[in-house]
Amino acid sequence: MSVLVFAENWDGSFKKSTYEAVSYASSLAAKVGGSATAVVIGNVSDTNALGKYGATKALQFDGDNMNHQGIASILAQAAQATGAKYIVFNGTWKAKGAAPRLAVKLNASIATEVVELPSSTTPFNVKKKVFSGKAFAHVEMAGDVKIIVLSTNAYGVHENAVSIAVEKGSGAATEKDVSLQHVEYQKTAGKINLTEAELVVSAGRGMKDPGNWGMVEALAETLGAATACSKPVADIGWRPHHEHVGQTGIAVAPNLYIAIGISGAIQHLAGISSSKKIVVINTDPEAPFFKAADYGIVGDALQVIPKLTEAIKKLKG
Ligand SMILES: Cc1cc2nc3c(=O)[nH]c(=O)nc-3n(C[C@H](O)[C@H](O)[C@H](O)COP(=O)(O)OP(=O)(O)OC[C@H]3O[C@@H](n4cnc5c(N)ncnc54)[C@H](O)[C@@H]3O)c2cc1C
Repeated sequence: MSVLVFAENWDGSFKKSTYEAVSYASSLAAKVGGSATAVVIGNVSDTNALGKYGATKALQFDGDNMNHQGIASILAQAAQATGAKYIVFNGTWKAKGAAPRLAVKLNASIATEVVELPSSTTPFNVKKKVFSGKAFAHVEMAGDVKIIVLSTNAYGVHENAVSIAVEKGSGAATEKDVSLQHVEYQKTAGKINLTEAELVVSAGRGMKDPGNWGMVEALAETLGAATACSKPVADIGWRPHHEHVGQTGIAVAPNLYIAIGISGAIQHLAGISSSKKIVVINTDPEAPFFKAADYGIVGDALQVIPKLTEAIKKLKG
């Protein structure tokens, strides 16, 4: 049985979120007894890369910068052609527009913000975030076809290299599907996307004052890292809400997460548990964050950060 996965690309390249969706789809396929087939729409230079995460087949369709209607239409055709009963998306902006439309077309059940593989396949039960991540719900998905939209960075990227066959998919978006076109994308220039970042420098209330954030940004810039923060810091307006990491904010999965002046409350840890290495800087040796840390510095952030930045500059220079 085929599990379809929407392998989204950005200007011809895949990102970590695509590999996460493919990783999930291949593990799901193993659970339901099938294989993962990636649906690629538009010109991509390295479709074979999807094999590293367990996709045994990729169906390649025309259509650069396809809109939500077009993506839903192509996936519906691919689902009907392959007889797929499961379709996986990562919860990106495109997926959020395309997945519900696809559910209507296929009369499928849909679960969004899914964080784990199904706990059982008959009945089909998945765990998902609800109330902006303040709680979890276990839902039973009915119906013949099921659409799963992942909560980004909750499942993680898992390598599972297989050989992949790349084929041209048969079908295309109709004229009606593409009647609404995105004519322009305005991109934020120069900023590292927090969801995709490999290095993150994050700070909390221990920074004492928003005026002290310059040193956090300088450290991030020296490392080439994205900046993030704890929830209270965003709530009091020291930092923008899109930087807030945790259960009610963004989940990250970097190679390195540096947590400065953050206590390590469970709600914060919920958003960073997929980080590969965690460094904690805190004045309080009993701060709970140290329990989750690979490396820790007990010290005043206002003293430690400039020294750390200088040391990194020296090392790089
Ligand atoms: C339903 C719910 C959802 C929530 N969701 C989230 C979420 O998604 N994300 C999130 O972050 N929080 C969330 N919270 C809040 C969470 O419980 C904590 O209150 C919050 O994470 C604490 O933020 P903080 O660590 O920045 O501040 P504090 O708890 O005030 O901790 C500050 C830390 O800085 C240290 N410190 C102080 N001075 C210095 C210094 N000079 N140098 C170094 N260290 C210093 C202190 O020792 C302390 O450990 C949620 C809470 C609830 C109830």
